[in-house]
Amino acid sequence: MTPERPIYLDYGATTPCDPRVVDAMLPWLHRDFGNPASSGHAWGRAAAQAVERARAQVAGLVHAEPSAIVWTSGATESDNLAVKGVARAQRARGRHLVTLKTEHAAVLDSMRALAREGWEISCLDVRADGLVDLDRFAAALRADTVLASVMLVNNEIGVVQDIAAIGALCRARGVVFHVDAAQATGKVAIDLAALPVDLMSLTAHKSYGPKGVGALYVRRKPRLQLEAQMHGGGQERGLRSGTLATHQCVGMGEALRIAADEMDAERARVRALQQRLLAGLGAIEQVFVNGSLEHRVPHNVNASFGAVDGESLVAALEGIAFSTGSACASAGGEPSHVLRALGRSDALAHASLRLTLGRWTTEQEVDAVLRRLHEQLPRLRGAGRPPGPHRADAAAAAAR
Ligand SMILES: *Cc1c(COP(=O)(O)O)cnc(C)c1O
Repeated sequence: MTPERPIYLDYGATTPCDPRVVDAMLPWLHRDFGNPASSGHAWGRAAAQAVERARAQVAGLVHAEPSAIVWTSGATESDNLAVKGVARAQRARGRHLVTLKTEHAAVLDSMRALAREGWEISCLDVRADGLVDLDRFAAALRADTVLASVMLVNNEIGVVQDIAAIGALCRARGVVFHVDAAQATGKVAIDLAALPVDLMSLTAHKSYGPKGVGALYVRRKPRLQLEAQMHGGGQERGLRSGTLATHQCVGMGEALRIAADEMDAERARVRALQQRLLAGLGAIEQVFVNGSLEHRVPHNVNASFGAVDGESLVAALEGIAFSTGSACASAGGEPSHVLRALGRSDALAHASLRLTLGRWTTEQEVDAVLRRLHEQLPRLRGAGRPPGPHRADAAAAAAR
């Protein structure tokens, strides 16, 4: 019943390193091991050059000045630095922050921490398709609003927010605008030369780079006031102290170089797989796709299954790696805050699958997952559970 080998459809959680990334990283772990801050000798200077080359590659993907890129340990740290860093540095301007209910915990919990220190947070509802209502967003901005944070691509449902329009509203009101783009690199084009965005969080490991490295784009002109979260050697213009991990920086640079070079071809290939998966799911009764299909990356399918218990659905998919609509992967976790924000019931949120596709996903794998769902769902639904309301509606409609 289980497929010949496990199928990985959890690229939204993390990706393997591209072999080209691993090759680029290796010399910096052993042969060229210098500290990039050691400018007095060749080892240090070689490492510094590698770090700067990688910085330019990261900047290149998002069309930013390399000097606007600050290395971090990942998007969690970037989100913390952006949100807390701006709020605390600019507390004299106001004590109000705006974000969405569907944001990542790294943003939401950073804001919750600030709320305990006296900041006021407006955490906005989204529309049923997961997108921001621009009028509601505009109405939330106040004279004392210091910062707003909206992610580009949602990690659970893959919807793409209209960052240009949201940023324009912020800019018109003098509000600093932060964008979490952890899920966006290599999936959507990002042009920071044109977008009204002040801060952008990036990470390597969602885009075929190593875990444990990321970056924060910090707009240089006009200069943005930002308070460092870590104090020490003053690296990264004092914004992020700590010896830079040369191999990690090189890995992220190479991963994002590949992302830039191959994005168009990869998007087309993954789009075809997404369409195949959606068509297969469409042939099953009571499947509800979560989030806009139109404004969505090709790499994400998130669907709720009616009239089935979430735990049994997960059990029936053994051998396939995916994420569920429960915050905790184990049974009994809280329903996803994102699916709840779309208006899904707890039962539907629990019976939800996030299937995320990537560089090595094949048609055969998509077909194997669909086959399993087609086999297992009728069995699960026939196992003595009362029919769900939608099935009852369909039966009633058929009887009429
Ligand atoms: C994965 C993710 C993060 C956290 O990134 P790390 O690099 O794992 O710390 C933050 N935001 C979003 C949207 C993510 O998908």
